[in-house]
Amino acid sequence: MPEGDTIFRAARALHRALAGKVVTGFETTLAKLASVDDQTPVTGRTVERVEARGKWCLIFFSGDLILLTHMRMSGSWHLYRTGERWRAPRSAMRVVITCGDVQAVGFRIPVAEFHTARSLERAAHVSELGPDVLGAGYRIDEAVRALREYGRSHPDAEMGNVLLNQHVIAGVGNIFKSEIAFAAQVNPFRRMQTISDRELERVAEIAQRYMLSNVAESADNANTGTRGTTGSMDRSARLWVYRRQGQECRRCGAIIEMRKQGTGARSSYWCPSCQPLIESD
Ligand SMILES: [Zn+2]
Repeated sequence: MPEGDTIFRAARALHRALAGKVVTGFETTLAKLASVDDQTPVTGRTVERVEARGKWCLIFFSGDLILLTHMRMSGSWHLYRTGERWRAPRSAMRVVITCGDVQAVGFRIPVAEFHTARSLERAAHVSELGPDVLGAGYRIDEAVRALREYGRSHPDAEMGNVLLNQHVIAGVGNIFKSEIAFAAQVNPFRRMQTISDRELERVAEIAQRYMLSNVAESADNANTGTRGTTGSMDRSARLWVYRRQGQECRRCGAIIEMRKQGTGARSSYWCPSCQPLIESD
């Protein structure tokens, strides 16, 4: 699943390319979108803005029409000059938005819905997101409160799974889950009831810092693999623990471990010495 920073970057690029422009062509292979487009055509509307919310990308058109997309594991938005050859096969195309000489193409997008402002408010999957680590309004105390409240109602939930739960905090994906837990010195398998407020604060603060540093303008080409948390410029040393099982911890030299976690069996990586497993009483 793409991390929130990938969606944020994609939304920013789409916004820069499309905002203020009139749609001159709209094409989709998705029946639900096509039927809305038949009733209330997208062509002729102006793209007002493009936003990321958690892992959702929202394209706002004039006349109260919003295209909501989620990339899951496979989807992506590409930008092209109109007429330019696509870097993915036509069979993977789901949505094409043409604005004169620029074209946004959504490939293999698994979830796409049209909304009005009103129906978007009622769309629980978007409106009930937790504090968005990449949102301008993100506040560490609010994120701590959201984590603590979730921990109270789910005392046995494991930290690693909670970090991926977009309804608790939004925007963290599987790579950053392990990196944030490492930097906060919290074992991803610890249950919420064992985690102190001070630790939750570290998690909430580091989540924002890591995600923001990966959307900084200088990291704009991070899709090519420059994503990092250690601050190292050396490509092979950019992450603390992710995909480093069997190698030495960069901080203490212990051997990094990996185990599948949660219903989605997502890989979690940790240092058993920096992040000891603290069991509940
Ligand atoms: Zn260590």
